[in-house]
Amino acid sequence: MKKIAVFTSGGDAPGMNACIRAVVRTAIYHGLDIYGINRGYEGMIEGDIKRMQSHSVSNIVQRGGTILKSARSMEFKTLEGRGKAYNQLKSLGIEGLVAIGGDGTFTGAKLFFEEYGIPTVGCPGTIDNDIYGTDYTIGFDTAVNTALDAIDKIRDTAAAHDRVFFIEVMGRDAGFIAVESGIGGGAEFVLVPETKSDIDLIVKSLKNLRKSKSSSIIVVAEGDELGSAQTIMQLVKDRIKDPSKDFKVTTLGHIQRGGKPTARDRVLASRCGMAAVEGLLAGNTNCMAGVINGEVLYTPFQDCIGKTKPILSDHLKLIHLLSI
Ligand code: ATP
Repeated sequence: MKKIAVFTSGGDAPGMNACIRAVVRTAIYHGLDIYGINRGYEGMIEGDIKRMQSHSVSNIVQRGGTILKSARSMEFKTLEGRGKAYNQLKSLGIEGLVAIGGDGTFTGAKLFFEEYGIPTVGCPGTIDNDIYGTDYTIGFDTAVNTALDAIDKIRDTAAAHDRVFFIEVMGRDAGFIAVESGIGGGAEFVLVPETKSDIDLIVKSLKNLRKSKSSSIIVVAEGDELGSAQTIMQLVKDRIKDPSKDFKVTTLGHIQRGGKPTARDRVLASRCGMAAVEGLLAGNTNCMAGVINGEVLYTPFQDCIGKTKPILSDHLKLIHLLSI
Protein backbone atom coordinates (compact mmCIF):
# COMPACT_ATOMS: atom_id res chain seq x y z
CA MET A 1 0.00 0.00 0.00
CA LYS A 2 1.53 3.32 -1.10
CA LYS A 3 -1.34 5.83 -1.14
CA ILE A 4 -4.03 6.32 1.47
CA ALA A 5 -6.60 9.00 2.27
CA VAL A 6 -8.25 10.31 5.43
CA PHE A 7 -11.68 11.92 5.89
CA THR A 8 -14.08 13.03 8.62
CA SER A 9 -17.77 12.18 8.37
CA GLY A 10 -21.05 12.54 10.28
CA GLY A 11 -21.22 14.97 13.20
CA ASP A 12 -18.00 16.83 13.95
CA ALA A 13 -16.30 16.28 17.30
CA PRO A 14 -13.48 18.04 19.15
CA GLY A 15 -10.29 16.04 18.63
CA MET A 16 -10.96 15.16 14.99
CA ASN A 17 -8.13 17.52 14.00
CA ALA A 18 -5.71 15.81 16.40
CA CYS A 19 -6.71 12.53 14.76
CA ILE A 20 -6.16 13.85 11.22
CA ARG A 21 -2.74 15.14 12.31
CA ALA A 22 -1.75 11.73 13.68
CA VAL A 23 -2.95 9.97 10.52
CA VAL A 24 -1.03 12.31 8.23
CA ARG A 25 2.20 12.19 10.19
CA THR A 26 2.07 8.41 10.78
CA ALA A 27 1.51 7.89 7.05
CA ILE A 28 4.47 10.10 6.18
CA TYR A 29 6.60 8.33 8.81
CA HIS A 30 5.86 5.02 7.04
CA GLY A 31 6.67 6.47 3.60
CA LEU A 32 3.07 6.62 2.34
CA ASP A 33 1.48 9.31 0.17
CA ILE A 34 -1.40 10.75 2.18
CA TYR A 35 -4.48 12.52 0.83
CA GLY A 36 -7.23 14.45 2.62
CA ILE A 37 -10.81 14.12 1.41
CA ASN A 38 -12.99 17.17 2.13
CA ARG A 39 -16.60 16.84 3.36
CA GLY A 40 -16.60 13.07 3.98
CA TYR A 41 -18.26 10.78 1.45
CA GLU A 42 -19.70 13.79 -0.38
CA GLY A 43 -16.21 15.03 -1.22
CA MET A 44 -15.13 11.50 -2.14
CA ILE A 45 -17.90 11.33 -4.75
CA GLU A 46 -17.01 14.78 -6.11
CA GLY A 47 -13.25 14.16 -6.09
CA ASP A 48 -12.61 16.97 -3.58
CA ILE A 49 -9.33 15.33 -2.57
CA LYS A 50 -5.94 16.93 -1.96
CA ARG A 51 -2.43 15.69 -1.20
CA MET A 52 -1.35 16.45 2.36
CA GLN A 53 2.08 17.12 3.80
CA SER A 54 3.37 17.27 7.35
CA HIS A 55 2.84 21.06 7.41
CA SER A 56 -0.80 20.63 6.28
CA VAL A 57 -1.59 19.59 9.85
CA SER A 58 0.52 22.16 11.70
CA ASN A 59 -1.21 24.21 14.38
CA ILE A 60 -4.46 22.20 14.39
CA VAL A 61 -4.09 19.86 17.36
CA GLN A 62 -5.74 22.40 19.69
CA ARG A 63 -8.64 23.30 17.37
CA GLY A 64 -12.22 21.97 17.52
CA GLY A 65 -14.18 21.10 14.38
CA THR A 66 -12.37 19.46 11.46
CA ILE A 67 -10.07 21.06 8.87
CA LEU A 68 -11.36 18.49 6.36
CA LYS A 69 -14.96 19.53 7.06
CA SER A 70 -17.73 17.01 7.47
CA ALA A 71 -20.97 16.21 5.69
CA ARG A 72 -23.85 13.79 5.59
CA SER A 73 -24.02 12.28 2.09
CA MET A 74 -27.28 10.82 0.83
CA GLU A 75 -25.63 9.93 -2.49
CA PHE A 76 -23.10 7.60 -0.84
CA LYS A 77 -26.02 5.54 0.43
CA THR A 78 -26.75 4.62 -3.20
CA LEU A 79 -24.87 2.06 -5.29
CA GLU A 80 -24.32 4.68 -7.97
CA GLY A 81 -22.84 7.16 -5.48
CA ARG A 82 -20.42 4.61 -4.11
CA GLY A 83 -19.44 3.73 -7.70
CA LYS A 84 -18.55 7.40 -8.34
CA ALA A 85 -16.52 7.50 -5.10
CA TYR A 86 -14.60 4.39 -6.13
CA ASN A 87 -13.75 5.87 -9.54
CA GLN A 88 -12.41 9.05 -7.90
CA LEU A 89 -10.15 7.04 -5.57
CA LYS A 90 -9.03 4.78 -8.42
CA SER A 91 -8.06 7.74 -10.61
CA LEU A 92 -5.68 8.92 -7.87
CA GLY A 93 -4.41 5.43 -7.03
CA ILE A 94 -5.70 5.57 -3.44
CA GLU A 95 -5.64 2.06 -1.98
CA GLY A 96 -6.79 2.51 1.62
CA LEU A 97 -8.87 4.84 3.81
CA VAL A 98 -8.98 6.14 7.36
CA ALA A 99 -12.55 7.14 8.26
CA ILE A 100 -13.05 9.33 11.32
CA GLY A 101 -16.72 9.27 12.29
CA GLY A 102 -19.55 7.35 13.90
CA ASP A 103 -21.49 4.18 13.19
CA GLY A 104 -23.12 5.57 10.03
CA THR A 105 -19.67 6.30 8.63
CA PHE A 106 -18.54 2.75 9.44
CA THR A 107 -21.68 1.26 7.89
CA GLY A 108 -20.79 3.06 4.64
CA ALA A 109 -17.13 1.97 4.86
CA LYS A 110 -18.08 -1.67 5.40
CA LEU A 111 -20.39 -1.64 2.39
CA PHE A 112 -17.71 0.09 0.29
CA PHE A 113 -15.19 -2.63 1.20
CA GLU A 114 -17.62 -5.42 0.36
CA GLU A 115 -18.45 -3.87 -3.03
CA TYR A 116 -15.12 -2.43 -4.15
CA GLY A 117 -12.47 -3.95 -1.87
CA ILE A 118 -11.17 -0.59 -0.62
CA PRO A 119 -9.88 -1.34 2.89
CA THR A 120 -10.79 1.10 5.65
CA VAL A 121 -9.82 1.48 9.29
CA GLY A 122 -12.11 3.70 11.35
CA CYS A 123 -11.43 6.06 14.24
CA PRO A 124 -14.35 6.68 16.64
CA GLY A 125 -15.14 10.37 16.18
CA THR A 126 -18.38 11.43 17.86
CA ILE A 127 -19.25 13.27 21.06
CA ASP A 128 -22.00 10.73 21.83
CA ASN A 129 -19.67 7.89 22.98
CA ASP A 130 -22.18 5.45 21.51
CA ILE A 131 -19.72 3.23 19.63
CA TYR A 132 -18.99 -0.33 20.64
CA GLY A 133 -15.27 -1.19 20.56
CA THR A 134 -13.81 1.71 22.50
CA ASP A 135 -14.27 2.85 26.09
CA TYR A 136 -14.49 6.46 24.93
CA THR A 137 -14.96 8.16 21.60
CA ILE A 138 -13.00 11.17 20.34
CA GLY A 139 -14.83 14.34 21.45
CA PHE A 140 -16.78 12.81 24.32
CA ASP A 141 -14.51 14.07 27.10
CA THR A 142 -14.57 17.63 25.73
CA ALA A 143 -18.36 17.57 25.36
CA VAL A 144 -18.81 16.33 28.92
CA ASN A 145 -16.54 19.06 30.25
CA THR A 146 -18.41 21.70 28.26
CA ALA A 147 -21.72 20.43 29.68
CA LEU A 148 -20.23 20.33 33.16
CA ASP A 149 -19.04 23.91 32.94
CA ALA A 150 -22.57 24.98 31.93
CA ILE A 151 -24.17 22.95 34.74
CA ASP A 152 -21.85 24.58 37.31
CA LYS A 153 -22.87 28.02 36.06
CA ILE A 154 -26.58 27.17 36.02
CA ARG A 155 -26.30 25.82 39.56
CA ASP A 156 -25.19 29.28 40.77
CA THR A 157 -28.32 30.93 39.45
CA ALA A 158 -30.54 27.96 40.47
CA ALA A 159 -29.34 28.32 44.06
CA ALA A 160 -29.70 32.10 44.07
CA HIS A 161 -33.37 31.89 43.04
CA ASP A 162 -34.41 28.53 44.55
CA ARG A 163 -35.16 27.16 41.11
CA VAL A 164 -35.46 23.68 39.63
CA PHE A 165 -33.49 23.50 36.39
CA PHE A 166 -33.96 20.89 33.66
CA ILE A 167 -30.79 20.85 31.55
CA GLU A 168 -30.90 19.01 28.23
CA VAL A 169 -27.61 17.61 26.96
CA MET A 170 -26.72 15.92 23.65
CA GLY A 171 -26.02 12.24 23.02
CA ARG A 172 -28.61 11.24 20.41
CA ASP A 173 -30.00 7.85 21.48
CA ALA A 174 -27.38 7.38 24.21
CA GLY A 175 -27.11 8.79 27.74
CA PHE A 176 -23.32 8.86 28.22
CA ILE A 177 -22.96 12.66 28.20
CA ALA A 178 -25.93 12.99 30.57
CA VAL A 179 -24.59 10.40 33.00
CA GLU A 180 -21.04 11.76 33.24
CA SER A 181 -22.00 15.43 33.30
CA GLY A 182 -24.77 14.61 35.79
CA ILE A 183 -22.43 12.75 38.16
CA GLY A 184 -19.75 15.43 37.82
CA GLY A 185 -22.25 18.27 38.10
CA GLY A 186 -24.03 16.88 41.16
CA ALA A 187 -27.43 16.52 39.49
CA GLU A 188 -30.38 15.42 41.62
CA PHE A 189 -31.69 13.37 38.69
CA VAL A 190 -30.25 12.15 35.41
CA LEU A 191 -32.74 10.93 32.81
CA VAL A 192 -31.34 8.71 30.06
CA PRO A 193 -32.86 6.54 27.32
CA GLU A 194 -31.12 3.42 28.68
CA THR A 195 -33.29 3.35 31.81
CA LYS A 196 -37.00 3.97 32.33
CA SER A 197 -37.63 7.52 33.55
CA ASP A 198 -40.26 7.72 36.28
CA ILE A 199 -42.08 11.06 36.56
CA ASP A 200 -43.91 10.08 39.75
CA LEU A 201 -40.62 9.25 41.44
CA ILE A 202 -39.14 12.60 40.37
CA VAL A 203 -42.17 14.47 41.69
CA LYS A 204 -42.09 12.58 44.99
CA SER A 205 -38.34 13.07 45.41
CA LEU A 206 -38.47 16.77 44.48
CA LYS A 207 -41.14 17.32 47.13
CA ASN A 208 -38.95 15.53 49.72
CA LEU A 209 -35.77 17.25 48.54
CA ARG A 210 -37.33 20.67 48.96
CA LYS A 211 -37.43 20.14 52.70
CA SER A 212 -33.61 20.10 52.73
CA LYS A 213 -32.62 21.82 49.48
CA SER A 214 -34.13 24.79 47.73
CA SER A 215 -32.75 24.26 44.22
CA SER A 216 -32.33 21.20 42.03
CA ILE A 217 -30.57 20.24 38.81
CA ILE A 218 -32.10 17.58 36.57
CA VAL A 219 -30.02 16.51 33.58
CA VAL A 220 -32.00 15.13 30.65
CA ALA A 221 -30.42 13.25 27.73
CA GLU A 222 -31.87 14.49 24.43
CA GLY A 223 -32.90 10.92 23.56
CA ASP A 224 -34.85 10.23 26.76
CA GLU A 225 -37.96 8.17 26.05
CA LEU A 226 -40.24 10.66 27.85
CA GLY A 227 -39.24 13.47 25.48
CA SER A 228 -37.32 16.73 25.65
CA ALA A 229 -36.34 18.59 28.83
CA GLN A 230 -39.20 21.02 28.08
CA THR A 231 -41.75 18.18 27.89
CA ILE A 232 -40.46 16.55 31.06
CA MET A 233 -40.41 19.86 32.94
CA GLN A 234 -44.07 20.39 32.01
CA LEU A 235 -45.02 16.88 33.19
CA VAL A 236 -43.32 17.50 36.55
CA LYS A 237 -44.71 21.01 36.92
CA ASP A 238 -48.27 19.81 36.24
CA ARG A 239 -47.98 17.18 38.95
CA ILE A 240 -46.26 19.29 41.61
CA LYS A 241 -48.95 21.99 41.34
CA ASP A 242 -47.02 24.56 43.35
CA PRO A 243 -47.28 28.04 41.75
CA SER A 244 -44.55 29.34 44.03
CA LYS A 245 -42.00 26.92 42.54
CA ASP A 246 -39.92 28.15 39.65
CA PHE A 247 -39.07 25.61 36.91
CA LYS A 248 -36.59 26.47 34.16
CA VAL A 249 -35.27 24.65 31.08
CA THR A 250 -31.88 25.08 29.42
CA THR A 251 -30.98 23.18 26.25
CA LEU A 252 -27.21 23.24 25.87
CA GLY A 253 -27.23 22.33 22.16
CA HIS A 254 -24.28 22.72 19.84
CA ILE A 255 -21.89 24.38 22.28
CA GLN A 256 -21.19 20.76 23.27
CA ARG A 257 -19.82 20.03 19.79
CA GLY A 258 -17.29 22.86 19.61
CA GLY A 259 -14.28 24.16 21.46
CA LYS A 260 -10.73 23.14 22.21
CA PRO A 261 -10.36 19.41 22.74
CA THR A 262 -9.29 18.29 26.20
CA ALA A 263 -5.95 16.56 26.74
CA ARG A 264 -7.78 13.19 27.00
CA ASP A 265 -9.42 13.70 23.61
CA ARG A 266 -6.19 14.82 21.94
CA VAL A 267 -4.29 11.79 23.24
CA LEU A 268 -7.11 9.35 22.35
CA ALA A 269 -7.41 10.88 18.88
CA SER A 270 -3.65 10.68 18.30
CA ARG A 271 -3.48 7.05 19.43
CA CYS A 272 -6.42 6.02 17.24
CA GLY A 273 -5.01 7.94 14.25
CA MET A 274 -1.63 6.24 14.48
CA ALA A 275 -3.24 2.83 15.01
CA ALA A 276 -5.53 3.30 12.00
CA VAL A 277 -2.63 3.84 9.58
CA GLU A 278 -0.58 1.02 11.09
CA GLY A 279 -3.68 -1.21 10.97
CA LEU A 280 -4.06 -0.53 7.26
CA LEU A 281 -0.40 -1.42 6.68
CA ALA A 282 -0.72 -4.60 8.75
CA GLY A 283 -3.87 -5.69 6.89
CA ASN A 284 -6.12 -5.09 9.92
CA THR A 285 -8.90 -3.58 7.85
CA ASN A 286 -12.69 -3.27 7.83
CA CYS A 287 -12.41 -2.48 11.53
CA MET A 288 -12.11 0.40 13.99
CA ALA A 289 -9.12 1.33 16.13
CA GLY A 290 -10.30 2.08 19.67
CA VAL A 291 -8.95 2.07 23.20
CA ILE A 292 -10.26 -0.53 25.65
CA ASN A 293 -8.86 -0.72 29.19
CA GLY A 294 -5.98 1.51 28.13
CA GLU A 295 -4.97 -0.66 25.20
CA VAL A 296 -5.38 0.08 21.48
CA LEU A 297 -7.52 -2.66 19.95
CA TYR A 298 -9.18 -3.26 16.57
CA THR A 299 -12.88 -4.16 16.52
CA PRO A 300 -14.59 -5.34 13.29
CA PHE A 301 -17.00 -2.77 11.83
CA GLN A 302 -19.67 -5.46 12.07
CA ASP A 303 -19.45 -5.31 15.89
CA CYS A 304 -19.04 -1.52 16.11
CA ILE A 305 -22.26 -1.14 14.13
CA GLY A 306 -24.24 -4.09 15.46
CA LYS A 307 -23.48 -4.10 19.18
CA THR A 308 -24.68 -1.63 21.78
CA LYS A 309 -22.26 -0.20 24.32
CA PRO A 310 -23.97 -0.20 27.71
CA ILE A 311 -23.61 2.54 30.31
CA LEU A 312 -21.46 1.23 33.17
CA SER A 313 -23.68 -0.19 35.92
CA ASP A 314 -21.78 1.63 38.67
CA HIS A 315 -22.40 4.92 36.85
CA LEU A 316 -26.13 4.21 36.91
CA LYS A 317 -25.90 3.30 40.60
CA LEU A 318 -24.02 6.53 41.35
CA ILE A 319 -26.74 8.64 39.75
CA HIS A 320 -29.27 7.29 42.24
CA LEU A 321 -26.97 7.05 45.24
CA LEU A 322 -25.52 10.55 45.05
CA SER A 323 -28.91 12.28 44.79
CA ILE A 324 -29.94 11.24 48.33
P1 ATP B 1 -22.55 10.79 14.26
O1 ATP B 1 -22.71 9.66 15.23
O2 ATP B 1 -21.72 11.87 14.78
O3 ATP B 1 -23.84 11.26 13.66
P2 ATP B 1 -22.18 9.09 11.96
O4 ATP B 1 -20.97 8.60 11.23
O5 ATP B 1 -23.05 8.03 12.59
O6 ATP B 1 -21.70 10.19 13.02
P3 ATP B 1 -24.15 9.54 9.87
O7 ATP B 1 -24.70 10.79 9.31
O8 ATP B 1 -25.08 8.51 10.39
O9 ATP B 1 -23.08 9.98 10.98
O10 ATP B 1 -23.25 8.82 8.73
C1 ATP B 1 -22.26 9.55 8.03
C2 ATP B 1 -22.35 9.24 6.58
O11 ATP B 1 -22.08 7.83 6.37
C3 ATP B 1 -23.71 9.44 5.94
O12 ATP B 1 -23.94 10.80 5.60
C4 ATP B 1 -23.63 8.55 4.72
O13 ATP B 1 -22.95 9.18 3.66
C5 ATP B 1 -22.79 7.39 5.23
N1 ATP B 1 -23.68 6.29 5.58
C6 ATP B 1 -24.46 6.18 6.70
N2 ATP B 1 -25.22 5.07 6.65
C7 ATP B 1 -24.95 4.46 5.47
C8 ATP B 1 -25.42 3.30 4.80
N3 ATP B 1 -26.34 2.51 5.36
N4 ATP B 1 -24.91 3.01 3.58
C9 ATP B 1 -23.97 3.79 3.02
N5 ATP B 1 -23.49 4.92 3.58
C10 ATP B 1 -23.96 5.26 4.78
